[in-house]
Parts: sequence; structure tokens; C-alpha cells
Amino acid sequence: MPARHCSALCRLLFALALAMPVLPAAAHRDSDAMFGAPQPPSAALPLVAVSGTVDELIVDDRVTGTTTHYLVLRAEGGKKFALDGTGLQALAKGAKVEVIGRPAGASLFVTDVRWVAPAPKTEPDSVATATVQGIVTVFHADYFAEGRGEYGLVVQGDDGQATPLSLAVVPESVRAGKSVIASGSIAADGFSLDVNDIIIVALPPPGFNGVAEAPTTNNVLVIPIKFTDSPASDAFTPTTIDTEFQTKVAPLYQEQSFDAQLLNVTVACKTTTPAGCAAHTSAGGWLLAGAATPANCNYTSVASLADSTATAAGYTLSNYKNRFYVMPYNSACGWAGLAYVGSPYQAWGNGYYQLWVTAHELGHNFTLWHSGSLYCPGQSIGPNCVGNYSVNEYGDPFDAMGNIYPGHFNAMQKSKLNWLPAGSVKTHSSGTASYTLSPIESPGQATYAVKISAASNRTYWIEYRQPIGFDSGFISNGAQVRVASPFEFPCTSCGSDDTQILDMSLGTAGVFSDAALLLGQTYIDGQYGIALNVTNVVTGSAGSLTLSVAIGSPPPTTTTLASSVNPSLVGSSVTFTATVTGTAPTGPVAFTDGGTTITGCGAVSLPAGSANSKIATCPTSAIPAGTRSIVATYAGDLSNSGSISAGLSQVVNKNLSTTGVVSSANPSVALATVSFTATVTGSGPTGPVTFADGGTAISGCAGVALVGSGNSKTATCSTAALIAGAHSIVATYSGDSSNNGSVSSSFAQLGIKASSGMNFVGNTGSTGTNTPW
Ligand SMILES: [Zn+2]
Repeated sequence: MPARHCSALCRLLFALALAMPVLPAAAHRDSDAMFGAPQPPSAALPLVAVSGTVDELIVDDRVTGTTTHYLVLRAEGGKKFALDGTGLQALAKGAKVEVIGRPAGASLFVTDVRWVAPAPKTEPDSVATATVQGIVTVFHADYFAEGRGEYGLVVQGDDGQATPLSLAVVPESVRAGKSVIASGSIAADGFSLDVNDIIIVALPPPGFNGVAEAPTTNNVLVIPIKFTDSPASDAFTPTTIDTEFQTKVAPLYQEQSFDAQLLNVTVACKTTTPAGCAAHTSAGGWLLAGAATPANCNYTSVASLADSTATAAGYTLSNYKNRFYVMPYNSACGWAGLAYVGSPYQAWGNGYYQLWVTAHELGHNFTLWHSGSLYCPGQSIGPNCVGNYSVNEYGDPFDAMGNIYPGHFNAMQKSKLNWLPAGSVKTHSSGTASYTLSPIESPGQATYAVKISAASNRTYWIEYRQPIGFDSGFISNGAQVRVASPFEFPCTSCGSDDTQILDMSLGTAGVFSDAALLLGQTYIDGQYGIALNVTNVVTGSAGSLTLSVAIGSPPPTTTTLASSVNPSLVGSSVTFTATVTGTAPTGPVAFTDGGTTITGCGAVSLPAGSANSKIATCPTSAIPAGTRSIVATYAGDLSNSGSISAGLSQVVNKNLSTTGVVSSANPSVALATVSFTATVTGSGPTGPVTFADGGTAISGCAGVALVGSGNSKTATCSTAALIAGAHSIVATYSGDSSNNGSVSSSFAQLGIKASSGMNFVGNTGSTGTNTPW
């Protein structure tokens, strides 16, 4: 794509982007790597322009002996962007520039750079005003109300202080568990470190963030903490928190881990009451920090204050693996919950103590990310997704790491945590086999999941759920199909997901509560030659689901595409016909226009029957004007591989319009009011009409809107500016997205002097075949 400058529209879009409080969490597609480098965004995305000063982040990896420089743009307004793309070699620290590019997470993929001012001759040395040394940890904040998450790095200092890092780019070498020295200056929030330099001094210690290999019990200290400025009245109490953790949170973990992970929860000064509690609690039982709420949502200060108060009350913090802070709602935070992903096993509830938040945040402490969903128009996953998919980071409605419902973690997550017995996850790598899955909630069963590695970035996990225990709130009598990280490229906003559930029920677009593959249904991944077929379902706690899994591409098919009329007119009906030739092919065909599903044509079924050549049709009148690329994609079935038609170039022309104009009085008296009415006939024409006198727009008669309904509409204007003499009046219709513009014939309007007394008789209008007089 050639570089070009940003239009006014793209500047506006970018201003809107800047107005967003926080950019969404960037992609991560590898639970070990945690943060993937952002992928170049689609060239279809609008370009944006941002002005600022070039800066850099230097990472000196003493372990590998490499030093890496990352270019950063400090935008006017304080936001930071990592710069990627072309033309960056010449950028020097301190230069003032305007860059044009496309954002992806907190990165800008640059296509063009405009210099505003060169870098100073003497490069300004970054003056490090703050330095922290310690272990890198990762936190995740959950803005459940907004359906988004945000992650970041925190250095757990050797001095016991935790310091969040403000970074535009997470360097590939900076990963959880490594020992680092980070320097920079204190950020605007007053507690984060705006980082200029990171020195990596050591790799993570062995077993860092490891998961338990045998059944284990975690002591969890929940600290309900209030501040001197917290509201006097309580929306909930430590008693409610205690009840929630003892009767829901701990039992959920016990149930879903099959007793492998127990939580021994102590709500400070409620479950137990050491002698120090009396002096450090409110009448309602909250621990009192004795200080005001830390400014700017400084959650590490919240933790420090809560820890020291709990210590004063009589708790020995080192006895507890997990600490969970519950505070009254703090609007400066925005998030509902926040947690470290693994070490140091701390989590926060911002005005929330309920299971759907606390089970989720503890899940992060157990190293889990989110359970998302993938919506791919017209298919479950595949080539049509590219540039045309949406990922909901929390879109899985079935588990606590997803969309609010606090159900069991999914099979991939349970497997990651060593909660599923050895051998209960089957790996299917070739041929055809049948598997009988037990409900994932039911303990002591032989088989819970099938895992299929289709490609390096597409691993399927298939499981069966029943409304048992904490999962009793939903019905899912089919096979749930998920893909696990790392996800298919390109995926620039995959969020921080462990898994994405796929929609096996395409009729309800974007709805995932019915995502399961039901009895008798077949799912085909034509791209990798994988077929799933549910052959038996027994519901209930002792139930099971039997599934046939086949790998190996069936014979190829061909799909051809034809149009009923080409070129066509905007708004007129066109029928696209896809002909699929194979072995009695069945299954859906998706029709797209420039990569976007044509409304109503996302999944058109081929007819039943034994014919080897079948058609699917897509009647539409919704194709906009232009030369459009129409494509039909056949999904395939057990006996036929999928196939994609060649692009069909459909020319859609605008409708012709005609414009006529008449005068209210002709001749008219000079400088008396006369009105002109233009009639535009087309296909529901909209848009303005301009009336001109001798080629010059008449004052007050430019851009007059059409009124009326149907295919013939009028625009009227009046003028009192016509002087005596002959005037050549023309009405011009500009056209719209459905109609070409048109120009009336000119007609002669005669202005006469008021005193002349003459009585002219003549035509008063023109319909494009006007006879001038
Ligand atoms: Zn989360």
C-alpha cells in the first residue's frame, strides 16, 4: 500500500481512538510467551496520524548478551506508541514527527513519516529519576462491564515494593519471572515507572509459576479493607464475603478440580479473629487501613496497606499462598477485578466479592487467561475469517474465565492445571476413531476431552458438559468445540485468551449459548481435513457423548459462481448461483461481497439428494454501487473437501435520473419573488439540487434537499433577485449512492420591468426537453 497522508476523517477517527481510556489488551497467543508481538493490521483499516516526539526503550539482556532498541512515539497528550513498519531507520530520539499508520494494540504500524523538527544535535540523555530491581510479574485487570481486559507488568522489588511498568511495547525478552533492573521516571499516575531502560540480569528461577503436580491445598487470606475516606455505609459486609468464599468459591475449585485444588479460605477478622482484630476493624468487621484510598487506583498500595493492617491484626502473611483484597468500589480503577497471572498470587475485587469475579481472579492466580469466543461469519473458523472475524475476549458463556457465568474451567484449562487424570485427554492425530466423552463435571471418568492439533496455530479441544453442580445453570447437550492458544494468524485483537469457543450453530450468528455440536451433526474443517460427527448423546450426570473424529482430506470439490444479471442496477435484484461439484455434496455455501457476508447468504444449504452437482442461490438487492468481488465458499462435508469459487466481478451501476424544472411565473416581474421547482425522477432519489442562472448558482438556491417520497421527488426554492431580461435557468441534481446525477434542460425565464404592462404568454418550465422561447 503506497504511503499517503491522513485524511481529515482519519484524524477524527484517531482522535476518537485516543479518547478511549485504555487500548485493549494486545494479542497473546502463547501461554508461555504471554505476549505475542502485534501482527500488522489489515490494510483495510483506516490510516491515522499522530504527532509526537521519538523516544526509545533500550533492553540490555545480560543473559544473552544482546541489546535491543525499541522506537516509541510519545504522542502529544502523553500516550505512548511502539513504532513498527517502514521508514523508521532515520528516526532519532528527540525528533518531532507526525507518523501515519495503523494502530494494533499499543503499536502503530507506520507507512509514512513527516518530519516536524529534527532531533537535537546533542542527543538528550534520559535522566533516570527512578530505578527498581526485582522480579517481573504480570497482572490482568478485568473491565467486565466493558467486556475488555488489560494486562501489564509489575516489578516485585527486592525491597518488597511492587512497581507497575508503563510500557508502549512489551519486549519479547521481558517475561514473567526474570530478574530485571528497570529505570526511567515516575509516570503521571504517581506510582508507575515510565521505563527507558531495562537490564535483564537473570532467568526465572526453576519452577516459577509452576502448577501443582499433586493434590494441594492453598491457604487464601481474604482481606476486606476500608480507608479513612471510604463510605460509612457498606454495600456488603465481611460476613457476606466470608459466606461467598466458603460456600461458593472454595467449593467451585474443589468440584471442578476433582479435589485436586482445595482452597482453605480465611476472611481476615471474620473466619478467625486474632486478638489484634479488635483494634483494626470497623463495627462492620472491615479492616481499617488508617489511610485514605490510594490515589489513581494504586492497587499495589492498596495491597501494602491491607497487608500491614492484616499483620497488625495478627495474621502471618507468609502462611497464605493467595491474598485477595476486597475494597469498597473505587471509581478511579474502573475494573471490577484485577489479579496477577501466577506469582505473587494476589488479586483484588473492586467493590465485588461475588463468585463470578473472585473465581475468575483466582483463576488468573492459577495462571489462567480468558475463555473467549470466535465469531466468523458464515462458518465456524477458516479462510473467510481472515479480516472478517471478531473475537470476544470473554465470550465463552460456559466457564469462569469467560463471560461472567461462573462454571467449570474448560478441559484445556483443567488439563493445564493438572486437574484431569493422566490419560483422560485423548490426542487424535490421524485416521478415524470414535471417542466416548464423560461430562467434564463428573469425577472418576476415563475420558474427558479429545485434543486435535490441526496446525501449529489451530488446536481443537472437544468436551461434553452437563448441568451438574456449579454448571447446573445451563444446558449443553452436545460437543463443545474450542481452539486453544496459539491462535490462527492473523489475529490482532485476540485478547488474552487460553481458548476460543467455536460456534457450531451458525443460524444464530454471534450467539454462543447454543455453540455445541448436537447429535447427528457434523463439523467440517475443510482447511485441514478434519471432520467431527456426534453419533450418540446420553444426558444426565452419568451420561456420555460419542464422537467420531476423522483426519484426512476428502476428495476435492469445485465451486463456480454465476450472476443472473451483470451489470446490474443499485437496488435491483440479482441472484448469485453457486454450483458445487463433488460426491453428492451437502452442507452450507457462504456468499461474500468483498469479504463481507451478503445478508441472508451466510450459510445457504445445498439440497439433499444424490446428485454430484448441486446449486445454492443467493438472491439479493443489497449490493452497493461499484465493481464488486463476489465469492462463494463451500464448507465441505464428510465426503467432500471445501472449495472456494473464483471471484466474480459484479458491476453494479447507479440508476439513471432525470431532472426537470418549472417556474411559478414566467415571465415574472423583475425583482419579484419567483419560485422554481425541480422534479427528480430516479430510484428513491435523495440528495441536493442546485438551481443556476446563466451558470451561476442562484443565491439561496444551492444544495436544496429533495422532498417527497417514492421515485419522483421535488426541490423548490424562491428568489427575488432576477433582474429584467432573459435568464437561462438550469437545475442540477448531484446524485446519491443509488442514482447518477442529472441536469435539466435550460429554460428561459424572462424578467420584465414592473411598469411595462406587457402580458407575456409562454411556457413556464422545462422537463429536459424544454423548448426555449
Ligand atoms: Zn480476567
